[in-house]
Amino acid sequence: MSTLQEQQTQLLEPVDRDAQARRLNQISSVLSVVLVIIGVQTVLANSWTNSLLVILAMLAVMAGARLNLRGATDTAIVLVLGTMTAVVSVSLWISQGLYSGALLGYPVILIVAGMVSRLRLFVALLLFMLASVALITCAALFGWQHFVPHPMGLGRMVNVSCILLVCACAVWILANDLRQTMQRLQREIQRVKASEASFTHLAQHDALTNLPNRLLVSDRMEQAIGQARRYGRRAALLYLDLDNFKNINDSLGHDAGDELLKEVAGRLQGAVREMDTVSRQGGDEFLIVLTDVADLDAISAAANHVLNTMTQPFSLKGMQIVTSVSIGVALYPEDGDDFAALLKHADLAMYQAKAEGRNAFRFFDARMNADILERLNLDLGLREALSQQQFVLHYQPIVDIHSGRLLAAEALIRWQHPQRGMVGPDTFIPVAESSGLIVEIGEWVLNEACRQMMVWRAAGLPAFVVSVNLSSVQFRRGNLEALVAAALQRYGLPAECLELELTESLLLQDSERFIDTLYDLKALGVKLSIDDFGTGYSNLSYLQRFRVDKLKIDQSFVRKLQDSPEDRAIVTAIIQMAKSLHLLTIAEGIEDDSTRRLLAQLGCDQGQGYWFARPLMAADFAVFTQRELPAAGLATE
Ligand code: C2E
Ligand code: MG
Ligand code: MG
Repeated sequence: MSTLQEQQTQLLEPVDRDAQARRLNQISSVLSVVLVIIGVQTVLANSWTNSLLVILAMLAVMAGARLNLRGATDTAIVLVLGTMTAVVSVSLWISQGLYSGALLGYPVILIVAGMVSRLRLFVALLLFMLASVALITCAALFGWQHFVPHPMGLGRMVNVSCILLVCACAVWILANDLRQTMQRLQREIQRVKASEASFTHLAQHDALTNLPNRLLVSDRMEQAIGQARRYGRRAALLYLDLDNFKNINDSLGHDAGDELLKEVAGRLQGAVREMDTVSRQGGDEFLIVLTDVADLDAISAAANHVLNTMTQPFSLKGMQIVTSVSIGVALYPEDGDDFAALLKHADLAMYQAKAEGRNAFRFFDARMNADILERLNLDLGLREALSQQQFVLHYQPIVDIHSGRLLAAEALIRWQHPQRGMVGPDTFIPVAESSGLIVEIGEWVLNEACRQMMVWRAAGLPAFVVSVNLSSVQFRRGNLEALVAAALQRYGLPAECLELELTESLLLQDSERFIDTLYDLKALGVKLSIDDFGTGYSNLSYLQRFRVDKLKIDQSFVRKLQDSPEDRAIVTAIIQMAKSLHLLTIAEGIEDDSTRRLLAQLGCDQGQGYWFARPLMAADFAVFTQRELPAAGLATE
């Protein structure tokens, strides 16, 4: 492929090297024919000097042709044009001077020189011709030579016609070259224009979905703002984020993820007006610019329409996939008067929509800023907490609900904040999950719980299990089973000592990697339980499939067990189901003995709650294990 520079040189040179050689060939052929005709004519006219000149010219043309054939085109040009000029000049000098028809040879030679030679040769020939004309004129004026015009005859007609023929050929070739060059130039211009257009398109569009990218959308937003400003209307920027894209990507693969993004792009475009702009920000985030909107109702209607379109199932790889979006809305002029400000505020509003349960839209509210800043601070603080070892584990006893015998200790993390004091996990776990820091925190918890267990075992405490909470984010890393195995090995613990608590929502993932990880964990010999059971959207068939050991009935049902027949019905159903699936049940949040008794009657196996003990520091937990069983208080009847 030729480079741009090569193409440019080709365009700038009047004729390229090959063309130059070809032109010289063509002109030489015509010249040969013409010289033969003129030669015959001079012989017939007994004009032997002129015949000699013609022979000289023919020899030069033949030598030029040979040189040209060998690639010495420049030399050939100098030879042919130089000889022709000399021949014409001598011919003028010896016979009729400026009366001679051979004078016509000069302009023809100049035309040919213009076609094939370089500027230097062209100028040299011209100067020579001018000098020769001046010399002939001087010779005539000063009487050095007498030039007498010959009477017009057939010979002159032949000579002049021949010169005209050469001239016509040269001009025709020249014009043709010019035409071709123009056409080439035209094609080149079109090509450049087309590639310019495709560059512009690429620079302004997202490669996957072909939607406008951030660059173009910022331009459209500014236009929408300008228009709203002129007509006293509003413009809105919608920031969209798919709610469960990561799960789909993880479980169905990136190809399916890409396919989904393309379909989403198509649907979004169908859901807005022609004048609005849909753009992809990257990942699973999209922007919509709503131009010329009158009031909040119109914007709400548009956002609702987008939400509804997105909740229709997508068919991917022959499966029906349901997804939803969270939308943040920022308005011009209320929330900002340029793209950057509106984008920031729409992003914050989207964040809020997600935090409030997803599949919804939220208008930006200035108070959001403060919330988000708080979260950001928290995120920074958590990183420091990890490096400064500000985390600590408390342990809450899990006991046999009938006998009160200690069965396990649930490790619950706390953050000993230098200023705020003890911070509970509900405040910082969600932040750590969204920033991904939970992976490192989770690793620390696992190791610390195992270390503590080793210490207790070494101290001769009665045997029990330590239970560790896992976040769904930890499963996405893919090295969970290796971490668990390493922790057990590091502290010399048998796998039966460890129980892992999974959240119900985690089981909905059903991705291959997730299932593999669960099987590997089971293969290690650790126990698995489902935390906060009953609060998720349980697909009960997975309980057997994932071979979990225990269901932890969520405290929300336990708390109102005595007063709410509905909650009692749910708890009863969970216990019955667990029994038929040969799973153990544990009730969380038992705060009084009557609840414990009721749960025991319903057939629940284990209990955890303030009535037995609050989460305790490790040292206090060791003391707790030494307590006398409050057998009297644990009557089931
Ligand atoms: P969870 O796993 O369901 O833990 C039980 C929570 O209920 C604990 O709150 C515990 O203190 C509380 N609780 C226990 N008995 C009672 C009771 O009788 N009444 C009441 N009102 N509450 C009781 P905590 O320690 O604040 O933990 C909250 C949640 O934070 C945990 O819920 C768990 O989901 C999460 N969490 C705690 N530690 C970790 C951790 O190391 N990793 C992860 N990923 N999550 C953790
Ligand atoms: Mg738990
Ligand atoms: Mg729980």
